[in-house]
Amino acid sequence: MKELVILSGKGGTGKTSLTAAFAALSENSILCDADVDAADLHLLMNPEIKERTDFQGGGIAVIDPDKCTSCGTCRELCKYEAISEDFKVDEIECEGCGVCVDLCPEQAIDFPIKTCGQWFISETRFGPMVHARLGIAEENSGKLVALVRQQARAMAAEKDLSLLITDGPPGIGCPVIASIGGATAMLIVTEPTVSGKHDMERVVDLANHFKVPGMVCVNKYDLNIDQTEAIENSAKEKGITVLERVPFDPAFTKAMIQGKTLIEYDPGSKVSQIIKGIWEEVGKKLESNMSQ
Ligand code: SF4
Ligand code: SF4
Repeated sequence: MKELVILSGKGGTGKTSLTAAFAALSENSILCDADVDAADLHLLMNPEIKERTDFQGGGIAVIDPDKCTSCGTCRELCKYEAISEDFKVDEIECEGCGVCVDLCPEQAIDFPIKTCGQWFISETRFGPMVHARLGIAEENSGKLVALVRQQARAMAAEKDLSLLITDGPPGIGCPVIASIGGATAMLIVTEPTVSGKHDMERVVDLANHFKVPGMVCVNKYDLNIDQTEAIENSAKEKGITVLERVPFDPAFTKAMIQGKTLIEYDPGSKVSQIIKGIWEEVGKKLESNMSQ
């Protein structure tokens, strides 16, 4: 099975619209929405939920004052400075690393399990889809991303599907790292701005670090030709395949309002033809990476 992960340095680049268009063009595939913090692929896929499972994670450390001897070990060990002088854990600062829980000499620190969100197995008009919803202000998105990918891979194997299309999270943090390891290729969707170039370069560095072959596509390229060229030149210098440019087209938004992919909304339009061409190139890249 091949896996294509679609990423962007930040939200709002059109990543999900392109993912949905690819879903409409693909065959024998499964979709995974790994953008668990701001999942919106379901708006275009209208999934029918078949299975719903709670996602549980250790949230934050809790110190039992009756057992605590105020030795200070946890404060010394906590690199996030999440424990106050009177040995209370700051819920915002605690990253849930568990170091204090393991090393408290009095076993005074607990790590209560709590429900942080839900993940789903659904059916869509383009095949199965695995997706999730993280609870508000929950912090375990890297773990939830790893979980939905793992479930999508398992389902692909079970149903003998040949392609997993993963809509990845924005940024370059833990959730992105959790979404790319072991992928066949990644496509970075960017927009022609200074920050778009910077974001693309950071994701490319990550791709190179994890040895995942990358491709770059500039969306809305005609809004700034100079920046488009700068992005494409930078990508080429970093050894990344540059795909055809996608022009700005209000049809993306109109399609989204109707809950359709661009391919369904206006299959004969010029921009749909461009996306079909990009999808063919992506397919070739996936094939060549698999045979390496
Ligand atoms: S390490 Fe344990 S005993 Fe020591 S201050 Fe922290 S919670 Fe209290
Ligand atoms: S779990 Fe980690 S981050 Fe949270 S208080 Fe303990 S050492 Fe600090």
